[in-house]
Amino acid sequence: METLASSETISVTSPVSLRQLYAFEADGRDRIDKIFQQARNIQPSIEALTAKERIEYVMKIKDYVIANRESLIDRIVAETGKSRFDAFTSEIFEICDVIEIFKKKALGLLKDQKVPTPLVLMGKKSYVIPQPLGVILVITPWNYPLYQTMIPSIFAFLAGNAVVVKPSEVTPLRGVVEEILEKSGFLKDAIQIVYGGKETGSMLIDSRPDKIHFTGSCATGRKIMEHASRYLIPVDLELGGKDASIVFDDVDIDRTANGILWGAFTTAGQSCTSIERLYVHQSIYDKLLNEIVRLTQQLKTVSSEDDLQKTNVDVGAVTASFQLRIIEEHVRDAIEKGAEILCGGKRIEGTQTFMPTVLVNVNHSMKIMTEETFGPVLPIMPFQTEEEVIRWANDSPYGLGGSVWSKDLKRADRVARAMKTGNVSINSHMITEANPHLPFGGVKESGFGRYKGDFSIWTFCNMKSVLVDKQSSMIEAHWYPFSPTKYKLLNTILDSLFVRSKKWLNVLQTAMQLDKIGRKEKY
Ligand code: NAD
Repeated sequence: METLASSETISVTSPVSLRQLYAFEADGRDRIDKIFQQARNIQPSIEALTAKERIEYVMKIKDYVIANRESLIDRIVAETGKSRFDAFTSEIFEICDVIEIFKKKALGLLKDQKVPTPLVLMGKKSYVIPQPLGVILVITPWNYPLYQTMIPSIFAFLAGNAVVVKPSEVTPLRGVVEEILEKSGFLKDAIQIVYGGKETGSMLIDSRPDKIHFTGSCATGRKIMEHASRYLIPVDLELGGKDASIVFDDVDIDRTANGILWGAFTTAGQSCTSIERLYVHQSIYDKLLNEIVRLTQQLKTVSSEDDLQKTNVDVGAVTASFQLRIIEEHVRDAIEKGAEILCGGKRIEGTQTFMPTVLVNVNHSMKIMTEETFGPVLPIMPFQTEEEVIRWANDSPYGLGGSVWSKDLKRADRVARAMKTGNVSINSHMITEANPHLPFGGVKESGFGRYKGDFSIWTFCNMKSVLVDKQSSMIEAHWYPFSPTKYKLLNTILDSLFVRSKKWLNVLQTAMQLDKIGRKEKY
């Protein structure tokens, strides 16, 4: 879906037929102020709900998505140009899966979290209260428009926050999320949508949300962080990637080729964790390459709007025309520097569909191996040694995901640990994202902050620490008055507690001395 936008008008077009689907005016300051006011008004009511009540609201969303999956997929594929199958698995199924897991998991995460209290604080207890932050701003990209809009918003809501979410102007799915929220019976105003591009996004930051959850490009991530820093608003940044996939010599060729194919071409390579570069051990390079090329040539691509209705089409279109230009530029740069196209390499005339492409004779002087391509292009490089391939995999400003393929699970684990990324799948790709219990996020220029797993809800919380003394008559050992005797005693306590050879007797003595200090005996 393409947006030909002035600062005010958003025009949404089909990436397959290039016709305009609809157009609208971006939201401005007045509507944003109103939305934020409503969010601030409703937030205390969300906070007052029990965890179970919040979960019950979220379950309504899931029920609605399940019941209306086909019409939701219609809207997703029309604007993204992705294949129907991709929309089903990575948006509809994923939303339901995450909600189902968090139906139970959220209960545990929202409870007070008890933590141990050390001996020096004997008699006291400690815990952490996950409390909401207030109003969360979620800003999302165009590649998974429903999933990226719903899931962080749901986590923020479960944490007790009100949410304002701005979908990408490229795939706004205008009205879709409102429809889900209203018709499912979700709490009014708890999650609100604002439409527009970067000016609208910028105005939203000026409304001073209590946290920003941003998913998008590194370039925009930098701007958002800079802007947020003016108000010291905390940010989570889920940014781009250049995932490496490493295949060793002992793999099942057929399974691995199929897995690589999906990892590289799902959502036409427009996933932040798509395989963007493949390193194959020299000894199986020809065999695996032949199989990958053979399978790639069999893939069916979306070439008309009718194909968006079919469930036997594999690879969709490139959603944004500006992304298509980047893909073509990366391929051109690679060819100029000596790369060879084994299949694909061009767009289907009259569409934004780029044929699934396999490139060889590539190296790290080329953009295709170093910059985020975000398209259905798989550059493949042979390697000789484990040490060499780890070095190449880490030769990137990005650190989002990656994969290692080998029957030797010790080796796979060793390489996974050596990869400087936030996520690694072993003998699959992107599969960490299929488990909502695992945290998701990147390192280096792929951003920071984690969501999903335990962080899903806690990233949207003030994790408030509390330590309770029962209001005894004892004073704390570090309180006044100070005296040489007390100083000496504290030294003894330090030795008893922390010197490696400490004996239980010492620990007991410490407890007794602390007790004496507390009672102000002699000291
Ligand atoms: P983008 O950065 O261009 O836009 C993302 C969002 O930011 C849009 O909603 C846009 O309107 C908004 N925006 C742009 N400028 C802004 C500003 N100055 N202030 C406030 N908001 C602003 O990204 P995109 O092209 O939509 O998405 C593709 C990128 O997203 C790729 O780099 C991809 O790797 C990344 N991505 C990352 C993840 C992840 O979880 N790490 C997931 C999906 C996509």
